[in-house]
Amino acid sequence: MDSIDYYKETKWCEQCQGYVRFLMSVETSFCVQCGSKVRLFSKKDMEAFHLQIAENKSSPKKRGRRSRAS
Ligand SMILES: [Zn+2]
Repeated sequence: MDSIDYYKETKWCEQCQGYVRFLMSVETSFCVQCGSKVRLFSKKDMEAFHLQIAENKSSPKKRGRRSRAS
């Protein structure tokens, strides 16, 4: 097994505009630098993430069978 990644874990802080270390409480996590709530992804990354999923779902199978055209 590799070394534990725990200390590398970061979340997005809107206030600091960056990924930061955080303190975890029951429902929310807080930035260690400014004390704001942090989120798992920035909005941008979140959008990219969802886009990726959408693309994967809707991407046509290009290697599929050709439609039977006579
Ligand atoms: Zn912060």
